[in-house]
Amino acid sequence: MTHRVAIVGAGPSGFYAADGLLRTRPDLRIDLIDRLPTPFGLVRAGVAPDHQGTKAIVRQFERLLAQPDVRFAGNVEIGRDLSWEELQAGYDAVIVATGMVIDRKLGVPGEELPFVWGSWRFVAWLNGHPDFRQGPDLSAVKRVAVIGNGNVALDVARVLAKSVDEMTKSDIVPEAGAAIAAAPLTDIYVIGRRGPEHASFTGNELAEMGRLSRAVAVADPAALAVEAPAHDPTLERLRKVKNLEILKGFARNVPGGKPITVHFVFNQPTAAIDPDEFDLVVTCIGYCGVEFPKGEGVFPVGWAKRGPTGTIPTNRADSHGVAQQVIAWLKERDPKSGPDPLPLSVDVAGWHRIDKAEVAAGAKLGRPRVKLTDWKALLDTAEG
Ligand SMILES: Cc1cc2nc3c(=O)[nH]c(=O)nc-3n(C[C@H](O)[C@H](O)[C@H](O)COP(=O)(O)OP(=O)(O)OC[C@H]3O[C@@H](n4cnc5c(N)ncnc54)[C@H](O)[C@@H]3O)c2cc1C
Repeated sequence: MTHRVAIVGAGPSGFYAADGLLRTRPDLRIDLIDRLPTPFGLVRAGVAPDHQGTKAIVRQFERLLAQPDVRFAGNVEIGRDLSWEELQAGYDAVIVATGMVIDRKLGVPGEELPFVWGSWRFVAWLNGHPDFRQGPDLSAVKRVAVIGNGNVALDVARVLAKSVDEMTKSDIVPEAGAAIAAAPLTDIYVIGRRGPEHASFTGNELAEMGRLSRAVAVADPAALAVEAPAHDPTLERLRKVKNLEILKGFARNVPGGKPITVHFVFNQPTAAIDPDEFDLVVTCIGYCGVEFPKGEGVFPVGWAKRGPTGTIPTNRADSHGVAQQVIAWLKERDPKSGPDPLPLSVDVAGWHRIDKAEVAAGAKLGRPRVKLTDWKALLDTAEG
């Protein structure tokens, strides 16, 4: 008899937690539970569809799914299909890796207008999340405001600005790709409430904005006459210095030199959304999450624990640390006995049937995959 651990949420932090547990306790039985029929959390549904290199991390996660004592339980939502209490009663420890993806609100007048989209809703649509199949109507969208100064804002601006050719190797859902290609876009404004020295873009992602075939990136040189804050830690300062250099390069570009102009605008806090200014507004200002039970034997990890900050690799050290706490907790306890508490719906074989169908559909178009976005199609395909 061995201990049984439930990990709720099969995103990066859930997988890294499983990895951390198995490194010390290869005998553990681990259930990786997700409300979606597909694993990988935001790697599948958040990371931009044209950044396939970032999504390649799933190969490591697949190796964990191949372990004999790791079960994937997709289409099982804790709090709906099984209560948190039932989960705690059935397992020796519960790791909460549910992430944090409710769009934060700006809290300004006009935010409820239909052309204002939170970045999660927008990106989940591009990425084929089955709860977000309906995208914005882009048929008359010329001017877009992307509010926020982090990499998600760059993802949104870039995917809108890229040409069809630049998106060919992506796994953007075809309807979203077609809607963007057909939109009469002319101007995309990436708007920060503070100065460029506070932006949290990373260099590679910002520099990519300067290499787009149908869009030119521009910035107002007057806003760039600033320095990275001297009190920042060295790496943070270097990142900001590089950002400022890249933005100064953009400031030398000519607006209108290509069909779309991406304007980097700073020091512009949004006081209200004005329907006369933009045809589409995407707010990229962070996320909040839902409550989960806290207490003995429950261990949060990843975004559910730390809030919506940090990249995929950030979750590794965090989850490995929590795995050690779980192992210490288990050491003090005999394994629980009792029936298998898990209502199995989509197992790893079911996920692999989805994966195979998506990859095969993509191969016909020279793409990495074409995602199934409909719940029924996902579940039918998983069943085979
Ligand atoms: C738009 C966007 C783009 C990003 N791009 C990058 C990038 O390019 N590079 C990078 O390194 N990082 C990127 N990140 C950050 C990265 O995605 C996160 O660091 C990481 O996904 C957090 O992992 P997590 O496991 O904590 O949460 P998630 O990845 O959100 O995983 C949570 C999982 O829990 C499941 N779940 C939630 N509630 C329940 C429930 N009640 N029952 C069962 N399952 C549940 C969800 O379905 C989901 O699969 C991006 C984030 C966003 C939002």
